[in-house]
Amino acid sequence: MNIVLMGLPGAGKGTQADKIVEKYEIPHISTGDMFRAAMKDGTELGLKAKSYMDQGALVPDEVTIGIVRERLSKSDCDNGFLLDGFPRTVPQAEALDELLSDMNREVEHVLNIQVEQDELVKRLTGRRICKVCGTAYHLVFNPPKEEGVCDKDGGELYQRADDNPETVTNRLEVNMMQTQPLLDYYNQKGVLTNINGQQDIHKVFADLNALLESKRS
Ligand SMILES: [Zn+2]
Repeated sequence: MNIVLMGLPGAGKGTQADKIVEKYEIPHISTGDMFRAAMKDGTELGLKAKSYMDQGALVPDEVTIGIVRERLSKSDCDNGFLLDGFPRTVPQAEALDELLSDMNREVEHVLNIQVEQDELVKRLTGRRICKVCGTAYHLVFNPPKEEGVCDKDGGELYQRADDNPETVTNRLEVNMMQTQPLLDYYNQKGVLTNINGQQDIHKVFADLNALLESKRS
């Protein structure tokens, strides 16, 4: 169960990742968590990554890939893993293939949760956050009991500045352009499956699950 999970912001990747790792008992490896752990452990690569991030610079691929290699070598990955947020580019995907091949493993499934842009914009612009406790609501999918007010503490709800339609649309388009070559790469390798993310959360998971079960042997 060596899985790469893909999907644009708002596609529901996080929710599905939680369900997959629970069912298949594999670790959810997100880039952010991986960097934080390496920095906390003070590994050589972790410290290198930190020095770049402290300067507000991008962490170079060789450092990122080294951290991925260290993480995937840990024993909790013996039965598989769910990668989320890595790879982001074709060179990173090639490096991932190479390091897995050193371990006699390979990427078996690339699951791409697909949602149309209009729907993503609707999802992302509907977010509202409590000024007091930070709880996230959604105007359509998870509305507060009283408009504009937090259920828990009566705090005022606000919309993040970058959740407005223009910024959201722009962010999605940039993201789509960056992701397409990666999708093409995995499609050519025959490991890509597109999953319809525009359905009920449970139905999306049922589809993912059916796919993973059918290829399990
Ligand atoms: Zn609140």
